[in-house]
Amino acid sequence: MIFGHQKIRDQLYHAIETDRIVGAYLFVGMPNVGKETIALNFAQSINCLDYQIDRAERRGACQKCLSCRKMGDGNHPDFETIRPDGTSIKIDQIRQVQSRIIFRPIEGKRKIYLFTEAERMNLEAANCLLKTLEEPPAESTLILIVNNIDALLPTIRSRCQILHFQPMAIADLAQVLVQQFGLSHDRAVAISANSQGAIGRALTLCQDGQHTEIDQIPEILTTTDRLSAFRIAEALSQEPEQLDTLLTWYRDLLMLHQRVDPQLLIHAHHLEKLQQIMRHYSRRHLQLAIETIFETKNRIAHNVNATLAIEVMVFNLLPRVKSN
Ligand SMILES: [Zn+2]
Repeated sequence: MIFGHQKIRDQLYHAIETDRIVGAYLFVGMPNVGKETIALNFAQSINCLDYQIDRAERRGACQKCLSCRKMGDGNHPDFETIRPDGTSIKIDQIRQVQSRIIFRPIEGKRKIYLFTEAERMNLEAANCLLKTLEEPPAESTLILIVNNIDALLPTIRSRCQILHFQPMAIADLAQVLVQQFGLSHDRAVAISANSQGAIGRALTLCQDGQHTEIDQIPEILTTTDRLSAFRIAEALSQEPEQLDTLLTWYRDLLMLHQRVDPQLLIHAHHLEKLQQIMRHYSRRHLQLAIETIFETKNRIAHNVNATLAIEVMVFNLLPRVKSN
């Protein structure tokens, strides 16, 4: 079963049903948001032997036929996934694809090549792939998956149909976790907030049983100790994606300051503690904190030294004596 991304799925199903599948797609979005799952489902739907056309809930691949099962198991001769070999996708991997893509599909209607982490193609590999993108062989489709579209050559981007994957709203994702996986409301909200609406990350958190720890109030909200600040900065630079989680806490504090209905807080079940913490912050400080986190995310995305950027950020975030 697939959750979310209804518009994108409808667009892809429509392409199949109207025979307008293009030669190259580019799936863009944050990690674990569901790009690879949708890509696999699209590939299965293209070659499914029992495509479900007019059943709203079950449109697309049947998931039961031989073709669907082979693709799901990773052993369909017309479906290949190319992942980085070590740290990058190398020219040899592209050449191997090119030597096979010219032949007609063996069992299915189309050959599908899925490139995960396509931004990790080195320049040589990217230029080599460009030749295939310029003239994609008939009956073949390439799907390139990237977290960051800016890391891809513009010449590659311009030859793909681009689909942007958005994270789910925290409340919607929480609802899925409650309804489909039987989580309690509080735990579902905590996991959704921690995963920033990325369903893949949420499902991993559900499975690995770490959910007791993921919704603790971050130490940075309460510490004034500059030595702890270094430790916090170091932990954050190991996991810069935690900056998104941090944002949710500062947003909650700011909302409390603005006397928004506490029901609307992401971390509503920590209301009492958050109200105490909020007293140590001015509204201005919280606004600046949110700006600083965004700025830091931006700097890291542009390859500024993450450890240094995060250290500076942490010292700017530390609570001070309230001034207004
Ligand atoms: Zn099928």
